[in-house]
Amino acid sequence: GQCASVCPTGAIVIRNCTQKFWDAIYDDSKRVVVQFAPAVRVALGDEFGLEPGTNVAGKIVGALRKMGVDEVYDTTMGADLTVMEESKEFVKKYKAGAKLPLFTSCCPAWVKYAEHAHPELVEQISTCKSPMQIFSAVIKEHFKQVQEVDGKETVVFAIMPCTAKKDEQVRPEFVYGDGSRDTDGVITTQEFASILKQAGIVFEDIDPEAADMPFGITSGAGVIFGVTGGVAEAVIRRVVDDKSNNMLHNIAYTGVRGMEGIKEASIPYGSGRVKIAVVNGLANAEKLIEQIEIGEAEYDFVEVMACPGGCIAGAGQPFTRREGKEERAKGLYDADKLSQVKRSEENPVMMALYGGILKNKIHELLHVNYYKGEENVK
Ligand code: SF4
Repeated sequence: GQCASVCPTGAIVIRNCTQKFWDAIYDDSKRVVVQFAPAVRVALGDEFGLEPGTNVAGKIVGALRKMGVDEVYDTTMGADLTVMEESKEFVKKYKAGAKLPLFTSCCPAWVKYAEHAHPELVEQISTCKSPMQIFSAVIKEHFKQVQEVDGKETVVFAIMPCTAKKDEQVRPEFVYGDGSRDTDGVITTQEFASILKQAGIVFEDIDPEAADMPFGITSGAGVIFGVTGGVAEAVIRRVVDDKSNNMLHNIAYTGVRGMEGIKEASIPYGSGRVKIAVVNGLANAEKLIEQIEIGEAEYDFVEVMACPGGCIAGAGQPFTRREGKEERAKGLYDADKLSQVKRSEENPVMMALYGGILKNKIHELLHVNYYKGEENVK
């Protein structure tokens, strides 16, 4: 059922899935799958005295396996799918002369803000589900057949940088007629650190391990989703025709990187240029929207992250100051540098998925229309 625990004063409801998570692990009738977001890997180490920005992705996988989790995946794979779909949507709208900018949809706090403060913009928010939701839907679809054989129900938990992801997971668009959901529980980075400590796991001593197949291959474009500018950069890598290393290098210097609240970039596309804005922090988003609405600024694509700095500084992550954010950003850009696959479309898992389980299910599994609200409920 719901993972909810009520605070003793009754003032707030905190959805804490820790118990549900352990119950699932000890329940033999369940297949427990865990995915963890890009930003988590460069922040969790803070809780265990590691250098700020240390990438602990491999240790997270190792620790989850020790705890008895059946399958461990990296949400970066979901980010790759988001890049594929969002790029397709953008190019289609751009070529058709549709109303732009297209706003990104992976930050649920931004989506919720737009719904309340700017309902006029909701139709311009990408219809792609967030990487977490896309990936959970794909995981559930993948294990459907296995489930018929082994009878185990698949439950998906996601380790995420914020509590906004908990609100996203229970939105009516993602809860289906039979009560099932894309994601069954969301655990924040801080909650995960507590779980590790409670379980007596000596995180420092865990040997790094690789994520499971068939979803274990991810791209550098996907991993930078965790830092402001990363989604825009990943989409640019996908849409530009020039796939050279030189272009890859140039994209990094277009203006999408860095901790400033509002950034601008422009890239050549077709016979013209695509104008991009990247904002982090909702106050900055508000400023940008105002400029767009009074006609002082014009963009084709706008990335919005509610947290200053992006998910690396999400409210569910160990707290950090500016230097810490920069270390975390560097941790993700270093992970990108070490990835053999730089672009989402070059990830072999994409080809397998699009030629396989996604064949007739792209819309159903990967998209949502927020502006249609209840109509989405299946
Ligand atoms: Fe969550 Fe903040 Fe990332 Fe938005 S930017 S998804 S609120 S951590």
